[in-house]
Amino acid sequence: MIPGDGIGPEVIGAATEVIAAAGVDINWDRQLAGIAALETFGNPIPDELLRSIRKNRVALKGPLMTGVGRGFRSINVALRKTFDLYANLRPIRNLPGLRTAFKGVDLVVVRENTEDLYAGIEHQIAPGVVESVKVITAKASRRIARFAFEYAQREKRHKVTAIHKANIMKLSDGLFLACAREVAKKYPRVKYEEMIVDNACMQLVLRPGQFDVLLLENLYGDIVSDLCAGLVGGLGVVPGANLGTRYAIFEAVHGTAPDIAGKGLVNPIGAILSGAMMVKHLGHPEMADAIEGAVESVIRARECTRDLGGSLSTSECGDAVAKRLRD
Ligand code: NAD
Repeated sequence: MIPGDGIGPEVIGAATEVIAAAGVDINWDRQLAGIAALETFGNPIPDELLRSIRKNRVALKGPLMTGVGRGFRSINVALRKTFDLYANLRPIRNLPGLRTAFKGVDLVVVRENTEDLYAGIEHQIAPGVVESVKVITAKASRRIARFAFEYAQREKRHKVTAIHKANIMKLSDGLFLACAREVAKKYPRVKYEEMIVDNACMQLVLRPGQFDVLLLENLYGDIVSDLCAGLVGGLGVVPGANLGTRYAIFEAVHGTAPDIAGKGLVNPIGAILSGAMMVKHLGHPEMADAIEGAVESVIRARECTRDLGGSLSTSECGDAVAKRLRD
């Protein structure tokens, strides 16, 4: 368990309480990362943390702060690359009882997690001129496309939409698309379509119900995830998983939200549902379903935080979900 920075300890506290209430017996190995680790060990990504993930292979993680335009490189990106967590999976759906701008949203963002502009290759070539290198490989593109189609097939989803800007980035996004097309041919029962990213953003806020599984490179996936979160109630409700062949790190889509940290205002539902995804991954789908059911029940009863129209604090909302599971 990595509590994380900012609102991380608050939401992870609620998630671990709920997981225990669901009857999942976990002996947590608490590890510091980011600012907390820098203050304690002088290193934002300490060896103890890496050793723990290598040993336990599964982690529940709070968000970690990354300085804007300065400071150490993103620890989130470093963890995803170190453990080859190549697939970022983010289910986006309307929660029953929660009134939002759209109905019928039930889509899944599949974001490539290891390359693209997040490769961190940036340099100044002359004063006032910098380059950021966008790395796209056939290997990573095929692998994430296969993940999206396998997921669609397994979860009985009907369509994968590859989102790109290959009209402009003909080589990089062109390669990504070529790989997606090649993989799509092997899954004839799953419909395949392509959409340019700017149009996809407009379509998502006009008719989100037309989408099913979205397949995206790293940067578009990051941006479109937050856009999609806005369709179903905001960053407070969307869970996520970073998955590789050997390791898995579960974390909500949101960041450290410094504007509301420590005030009891933060919504723990995204972290709780990330915990449910982890519980399912650990082989307890019935307990994961129970957690999801308890979340839906508290939302219907308006026992939630202010961002969802309730009046509970973070810990009260976590307690309400946990109580449903114990009763
Ligand atoms: P953010 O997600 O932290 O916050 C965006 C907005 O959403 C804020 O107004 C915030 O108050 C609100 N919000 C976020 N989570 C919420 C929740 N659970 N309940 C209610 N409201 C919530 O994004 P940001 O402000 O762009 O980034 C802040 C920091 O977080 C940056 O350092 C960024 O690098 C980091 N970040 C980390 C991760 C991660 O660890 N995976 C992800 C995104 C951002």
